[in-house]
Amino acid sequence: MRAARLADVDGLLVTHLPDIRYLCGFTGSSGALVVAGGRAVLFTDGRYTEQAQEEASGTRVVIAKGSALAAACAWMDGAGVERCGFDPAHTTVTALLAMRKAVSAGRRRSLFQPLEELVSGLREVKDDEEIGVMREAARMGCALFEGVLAEVTPAMTEVAVAVELERRARLAGAERMSFETIVAGAERSALPHARVSRARLPRRGFVTLDFGVVLGGYCSDMTRTVHFGRPSAEARAVYDSVLEAQMSAVARVAPGVRAEEIDEAARGVLRRAKLDGYFTHSTGHGVGLEIHEQPRIGAKQRQELRPGMIITIEPGAYLAGRFGVRIEDMVLVTAKGCEVLTPSTKAWLEL
Ligand code: ZN
Ligand code: ZN
Repeated sequence: MRAARLADVDGLLVTHLPDIRYLCGFTGSSGALVVAGGRAVLFTDGRYTEQAQEEASGTRVVIAKGSALAAACAWMDGAGVERCGFDPAHTTVTALLAMRKAVSAGRRRSLFQPLEELVSGLREVKDDEEIGVMREAARMGCALFEGVLAEVTPAMTEVAVAVELERRARLAGAERMSFETIVAGAERSALPHARVSRARLPRRGFVTLDFGVVLGGYCSDMTRTVHFGRPSAEARAVYDSVLEAQMSAVARVAPGVRAEEIDEAARGVLRRAKLDGYFTHSTGHGVGLEIHEQPRIGAKQRQELRPGMIITIEPGAYLAGRFGVRIEDMVLVTAKGCEVLTPSTKAWLEL
């Protein structure tokens, strides 16, 4: 299947829930949004009659008797749409078969056209209202980090730290965490996506905290790595290199700069410190209604940054079986440069 362009279609079928929320405000767990002939119609089911009308007040709402997706496709067919763009990245084969089954036999093959980055391209640049909510989510993340930091001791397990962070987040008004909280101590800090374990924090060693809260539907994301006890010279040197890489990348963030240049700013510092082999992921990602969004900040990503984008900058170095360091900020691209939304200190923290 070749992907269509927006100009090639006369209708859009939006099924990815964060996209639906972005376009019409509906936050339910089942729905399909159709845009055709200058009109938008939200299809959902009986569980959401009231909620859909309230949240998607500017959009016509249809409560489907059976599947909302099938009803949306049948409506499209009836409205005479010839070519309908759909999001191939968020459509299962089963859903595509159901979509085809819902339309008349003569159009089954031609109606649905894969249209890449259907809505994700719009979501990359945040408006003032979104920026306001995300700034608040990021600020809440910083306050939580600082609050929990004041209480952690090596007697605590990773899971106890995570629970404390999440308890405070809920009480502070977070809807939920934006992903599974990472608290990784000692040699586990060398696992970039460590699962929280029952291991106690080290008396002497690193602890990495990577977490975020959801506020008004929008995610925050930040990472800090702290050290218990006296560090080895090597631990200190690795930390300093990761911090320098992170700050160099942040300093490069500005409109018109390509994502790959940001990545290289971080990677270059680690290369000079002979640590680039331990930096095993990309430098960052867009964040918003979802924790990982466009743009991707990595090698060979030629996309240029634009004002209003909110991205993370999170280089790390992971020495397997020994220790790891990652430092992550959320950064807003502004008209002239950038603003760090997560100002909690990144200076060496020895507990
Ligand atoms: Zn993170
Ligand atoms: Zn992240």
